[in-house]
Amino acid sequence: MAKKSVLIIYTGGTIGMVADSRTGSLKAFDIGHILKNVPELGKMNVKLESVSFATPIDSSDIQPKHWIEIAEIVYKNYNAFDGFVVLHGTDTMAYTASGVSFLLENLGKPVIFTGAQLPIGVLRTDARENLITSVELAAHSTDGKPTVPEVCVYFKNQLYRGNRSHKINSELFQAFNSVNYPVLAEAGVNLNFDTDAIADRPILPIKLYKKLNSNIAILKIFPGLSAEVVKAVTGIKGLKALIVETYGSGNAPTEKWFVNAIKQAVKSGVIVLNVTQCYGGAVEQGKYETSRQLDDAGVVGGADMTTEAAVAKLMFLLGNYTDRAEVLEKLQEPLRGELSN
Ligand code: ASP
Repeated sequence: MAKKSVLIIYTGGTIGMVADSRTGSLKAFDIGHILKNVPELGKMNVKLESVSFATPIDSSDIQPKHWIEIAEIVYKNYNAFDGFVVLHGTDTMAYTASGVSFLLENLGKPVIFTGAQLPIGVLRTDARENLITSVELAAHSTDGKPTVPEVCVYFKNQLYRGNRSHKINSELFQAFNSVNYPVLAEAGVNLNFDTDAIADRPILPIKLYKKLNSNIAILKIFPGLSAEVVKAVTGIKGLKALIVETYGSGNAPTEKWFVNAIKQAVKSGVIVLNVTQCYGGAVEQGKYETSRQLDDAGVVGGADMTTEAAVAKLMFLLGNYTDRAEVLEKLQEPLRGELSN
């Protein structure tokens, strides 16, 4: 069987970090350092190549332009490789994986995001296993076809759909989960795939999008949220969309000033999307009185989307579609498996 080929895209993050000799703080280091620390990669039956961001960064500095950069690297190298591994900081990995999933339509090969909680040079690092298994997953095929043709996050033995993933822990090696969607694969003695949960292979050729519009905001509801805060957020000049992070199944205060502010925002053309603060479950506008008023105000229910997926999806839709009705329609239908029907 021909050797599979995988392109490693290094963006930064703890996985490749070393301590600054002056301050002691961790800062991103080069890809050579990572590969040198995992000699096992050389023993794999996979042809590996790597590219790196000119300056690897902590993922807190990742911006939507970097999502485009990653998607472009995948697109340009799409025919030359069987799969892709993106090394990325864990802090914003779920956002980037979501963003890249929207930018690459009809993706037919694995794009596996991974990273680590401990730098690769540290004795108890989780980087080695995460990296080696991600390469295996990116190279994996079934009946000669890529097994996982999606953007995924792999961490601590579990493979998640990227736009369903969420960082849950900054301390444990099990740093991610995906409450509203099954784990796509478990890495134990064998790699066990949940083939029903994995996306179908596309029929059409891959398409790259290069536009994102980040004129959006998030308003997290909490007891005590003031009219001033809501007014300030809904009054932002040029605001195109507002994600309201609500309670439970999409509930928010019923006070008049709040409902009116949201109504006003919708009336002025802002797309208001209701996403739950809960890690699991979905927004069901109208289930309770406290969400019916949002429905009446023209707020769009975000179903079981994560906030990360909602952010990326709105930026993608606002960047690539000008017709409001089309944006609203696409917002409510699964484009890359980011929400359940
Ligand atoms: N601050 C780091 C980053 O996101 C944390 C990590 O990689 O785990 O880049």
